Amino acid sequence: MFVCDRCGECCRHLDLSPLYRDLDRGDGTCRYLDGDLCGIYDTRPLICRVDESYEMFFRESMSLEEYYRRNYAACAAMKKHLF
Ligand code: SF4
Ligand code: SF4
Repeated sequence: MFVCDRCGECCRHLDLSPLYRDLDRGDGTCRYLDGDLCGIYDTRPLICRVDESYEMFFRESMSLEEYYRRNYAACAAMKKHLF
């Protein structure tokens, strides 16, 4: 299972992907972010669910290890404000 420390950085960088356009309140931050946490966590969209998205969209194109590696790299870059 993907390990998330709930920093909320990914939810403040929605402008990095057009997939999240409908959630963006206009400045790259999700309209549902509450502090650092998701305000609709239990009903958040599939694109916000790392493990479920792998099964649905990425399973055929890369290993789970590679998918996690890419996600952890993106998390680290966002935490360092490299984007
Ligand atoms: S940036 Fe990564 S660690 Fe931080 S909340 Fe998002 S998925 Fe979790
Ligand atoms: S719905 Fe929740 S998990 Fe998805 S981007 Fe918004 S705050 Fe983050």
